[in-house]
Amino acid sequence: MYQVVEQFVSINGEGVCAGELAAFIRFKGCNLNCSYCDTKWANQTNAPYTEKTADELLAWAGGTGVCNITLTGGEPLLQTNIGELISLLIQNGFRVEIETNGSVFIGDLAESEHRPVFTMDYKLPESGMEQAMDCGNFGYLNGDDTVKFVAGSQNDLTRALEVTEKYQLRERCHVYFSPVFGKIDPAEMVAFMKENQLNGVRLQLQLHKFIWDPEKRGV
Ligand code: SF4
Repeated sequence: MYQVVEQFVSINGEGVCAGELAAFIRFKGCNLNCSYCDTKWANQTNAPYTEKTADELLAWAGGTGVCNITLTGGEPLLQTNIGELISLLIQNGFRVEIETNGSVFIGDLAESEHRPVFTMDYKLPESGMEQAMDCGNFGYLNGDDTVKFVAGSQNDLTRALEVTEKYQLRERCHVYFSPVFGKIDPAEMVAFMKENQLNGVRLQLQLHKFIWDPEKRGV
C-alpha cells in the first residue's frame, strides 16, 4: 500500500519532459524540511492521505490517457516497495519519472531491470538541508537523468557550480539551475551562467508558478 496525497494530470514542471503532459502521483511524507518547500502540507504527519495499491494506481494511470507518470512528494522513495509500483508502471508501457530530493539512496532502483528516470535535487545551502545530500547517488545517474539545483542566492549558485564540476555532472546527466520563486531574479542566474561559461547547464523556471497561482495545489 502506498500513501497518496494527490493524483492529477498536468504538465511536468521540471526535468527533461518539462511542458509535457504527465500524470502525477504525490506521496505523503518527507525526510527533509527545506526552507522553500511548497508542499509542506503533504509532509505533515497528520496530512490526509489515501492508501492505494500498485494495481489501483496502474488502473488510474491507464485511465488518464497520459503516458508520462511523475512520482513526487514529499519524498517518493520513502514509500515502502516503491520499486514494485515503478516496475509495474514501466512494464505496462509508461515512462516513469521520479522526483527525488537527493538524500535517499537510489542505487538499487537505478540498477533494476525496470529503471525509472531520475530528476534528483541537490539541496543548496539556502535550503538548510545540504548536509543530508548523498553524493554517492551521482554515480548512478545517466544521460536520461537530471540533477536540479534550486538556488536562492549567489552563494547557492557558486555552490551549484562547485558541485557540478566536482562530480562532472555535465558529462553524466542533464544539469538544471532553477530559481527559488521570488528569491532570486532569473536574470541574475543567466548572468552567472554567462560569467562562468556554463555550457551544458539549463536554466529552468518552475512553469507551474507562472501558469497558475503559486500556492495552487493539484496542478
Ligand atoms: S525535499 Fe522537497 S518535499 Fe521535502 S522538504 Fe524539501 S522541497 Fe519539500
